[in-house]
Order: sequence, then C-alpha cells, then structure tokens
Amino acid sequence: MSLHTLTIAQARDLLKRREISSLELTRAVLDRITALEPAIQAFLTVTAEAALAEARQADAAIAQGRMAPLTGIPIAIKDVICTLGVRTTCGSRILERFVPPYDAFVMQRLKAQQAVMVGKLNMDEFAMGSTTEHSAFQVTRNPWNTACIPGGSSGGSAAAVAAEMCLASLGSDTGGSIRQPASHCGVVGLKPTYGRVSRYGLVAFASSLDQIGPLGKTVADCAEVMQAIAGHDPSDATSAPNAVPDYMAALNRGVQDLRIGIPKSYFESQGLDPQVAAAVRQAITTLERLGATIVDVALPHTDYGVAAYYVIAPCEASSNLARFDGVKYGLRDGGADELLDMYRATRSQGFGPEVQRRILLGTYALSAGYYDAYYRKASQVRTLIMRDFAAAFQKCDLIASPVTPTPATPIGAHADEPLAMYLSDMYTLSANLAGIPGISVPCGFSTDGLPIGLQLQAAHFQEERLLAAAQAFEQATDFHKRKPAL
Ligand code: GLN
Repeated sequence: MSLHTLTIAQARDLLKRREISSLELTRAVLDRITALEPAIQAFLTVTAEAALAEARQADAAIAQGRMAPLTGIPIAIKDVICTLGVRTTCGSRILERFVPPYDAFVMQRLKAQQAVMVGKLNMDEFAMGSTTEHSAFQVTRNPWNTACIPGGSSGGSAAAVAAEMCLASLGSDTGGSIRQPASHCGVVGLKPTYGRVSRYGLVAFASSLDQIGPLGKTVADCAEVMQAIAGHDPSDATSAPNAVPDYMAALNRGVQDLRIGIPKSYFESQGLDPQVAAAVRQAITTLERLGATIVDVALPHTDYGVAAYYVIAPCEASSNLARFDGVKYGLRDGGADELLDMYRATRSQGFGPEVQRRILLGTYALSAGYYDAYYRKASQVRTLIMRDFAAAFQKCDLIASPVTPTPATPIGAHADEPLAMYLSDMYTLSANLAGIPGISVPCGFSTDGLPIGLQLQAAHFQEERLLAAAQAFEQATDFHKRKPAL
C-alpha cells in the first residue's frame, strides 16, 4: 500500500489498529516529497529530521494509548504561520532568514495532538496574489498540469495536498486564498468565519479579512483539522468566544433541511467560463437531487466587491507591513548612511513588485485628502455587501456559486496585468468582506483535465452546514477520487 495516498480518517484507523506506524507514514510522505518536489515546488522548507522525530514520539504516544484525532498525521503549513524554530518567510526576501521564537496558536493546537509537521509551504509574497507566482523564491506548479498555476496565495498548501506530499495542510484566506487554490488543485478548502480560528502567530496581511483554515483531500479531513484549530484564544483580540461545535458529528446531517440560494447574477458575469458554469450548475442539480431546496437570492453589491477589497486590503497591508523596516525583523540593507536611506534600500530589496504595488496603493488611499474618497467609500460598500448576505441568509441556509471564473490559467498568463488577476477573485472576496465562512469542494473537470470547484457559503459560524452539504455532495460524486497523473 502506498501510505501517502491515505486520507486522515484512513490513516488514523490504521494507526489505531497498529497496522502502520506514524514513522512509516511520515517516511512515505517524505519519500513522496523527494520524488515530486522537483516538479511541483510546493515547499519552501522540508523539516524531514524533525518530522521523523515527531513521528517517533507520536508512535510512543499511540503505544501508550494516548491518541488524539491527528496524532501521527503528516501535515504541512503555509509559510505565513509562525513555527517555533522553523524559518517562516511569508514567501518574501525580507523574511528569508526569519526564525520565529514562538508557535502560532494553530501550531500549538496541532502539536498538542502530536500531528507531524513535514514542512512549510510556498505562497504569494505576504499572501498577496492568486497564482503563487509572486513568491520571491519559486513558482509552485499545478499537479494536474505543471504548466499551470496552482492558484494562490496558498498555492503550496493546495498543490502539496493534491500531489499527496502531506495528508492535509493549513492555508490562510484574506480574499479567497484557501478556496481558490483548493478549487484549482481539486482538493477541499475551508475558510472559516472571521474570528473562528485564532490568528495569533499568523503574519498579518489585512487584519479585518485574514483567516486561517484547512485544506484536505476530503471534506471529513478538513472537518478534522478544523476541529483541532478552532476555538477561542485570548491572545487574538478578534478571536470569538463562541463554543466550538462538533464538526465531525455535523458531517452526516445531509442537505434535506437546507435551502440553497443561487445568486443569478453570479452566473451572468462576462468572465465566467462556460465549463465552470456548467459544472457548478450540475453540482447544484446534484444537491437538489439529494434533497436540498433551491431558491433564488440577490447579492446586488457583489459587483463592487473587487474594487472595495482592493482598497481595504492594500490599506491594511500598508499599515501591517510598516513593521518590516530593517530594524525589528528580517533583512537590513547595510550600505546606507542614513535612517531613511536604510528603510528605502531595505524595503526596495526586501519586497517584490506586487507587495510594493499594494503598499503604494494602500498608502495613497489612506493619505490625507484621499481617505474619504477611497477607504471610507470602500468601507461603506463593505457594509452594503454584509447587508446583502444578511438579507440572502433570511431566505436560504447556504449560497452556491463558482469559486473562480476559470480553471487554472497557464503560468505567466497574468504576468503583466495585475487587474486581470484581481478580477478573478470576484466570487471569493465578498465572504472575507462580510466575515462569513466558505468552502470549495471539487465538482468537475474542464475538457483539459483541470479541476473545477463548487463554492458554498454560509452565515457567520455556520461551518457545520457547509461541511454537511459539502460532505453530502462529495459522497454522491467521485471527483475527489480522481488523482493527478504524476
Ligand atoms: N488574491 C487576493 C489578493 O491578492 C486574496 C489573497 C488572499 O486571500 N490572501 O489579495
């Protein structure tokens, strides 16, 4: 048996029955990384030695009867999440040698269960991008077609799961960065409600939008990781005190009681690829056949979402990234004689073009005289988008839509047109503006064999409904069983 092909649920069963050890499982995953990483380039750091040591400890715990749901399971982490003693670069030159002196909250949770970390995953620099081409270090490839992008910014997280170089991973989602790469790589990705998962130790991009969430081979695996990382954390002021439900128990609730809203306008937008539209429509028909009730909903302000997001996110980024000044963290240019020259030289070398573009945009939009015209206006649009969702969720329990307008594009396709890349976030970023949860689940393939995802969104803290519907859909279809030919 090739152990890297297991789901978390399957691996746990075998570990529990002592038919395999975590050491064997971890070795199989590390071998897979060695074999495929040259072609995929999903990892920025592989922590092989530490992983084997953690696996041995997990095996000892299992032998003593101390087994948590993720004990001994090989997981990989987006490189924007701080890992004690393990380099955390955010895909940026400026943090190329940054080794955090502490673990993010989510890492503490995974370690408490004795999950095994196999490495840190590539991403667009500071999570700004939708292709993983904006990493300072390497371009991650889509396992379904290595000439295509894996999506982004959590492209490494999605590609590593799709190529079975880990059993599950963590990503972060500020405007779609978990759901969109999950969709492009044919895996499941869950963006939780704002405040559901602590961001303590997540390097901030846009603090009013950022959330950490899981990517996995199946809905159940995402639920399992979600169960481990969700919950209140006093170290994150935005962490919600709400009790964490039993996500695993919610999985088999089915869709019979659920009303699924379809925003008609989402299917009328010009950029929507007909193959994506057809796959998503077919998925909606499947959900209806499984017992869901389909209703029309209106989200009239979605059209302004891209514009509002690309003001708000850069504004917050320009403020958050001010700390990378060559003094407190990371890279410093040693050649300058004066402080301002040192800042300029450090930040010019340390940040790539996309990050510089966002900082310029955000600083401009926040400057005296422009604040009202841009930031305030965008915040008002954000309120309208929140109200759209609130009204829609009076009529339905879930909203179904595409994740992205097209399947994964060829590497380099958007190289000179950032606006085209921004527009491709149209279906995902409104969830971040509203703070609601969303999931991407495989729902088809293009004629070129590239995966297509179905997005489901729910009201705040309704992750259980997302998981139940996604699980019902997954059980009724076999898109998740197809594997890329690697
Ligand atoms: N693609 C979006 C951006 O470039 C979203 C990124 C994200 O969710 N981190 O900002």
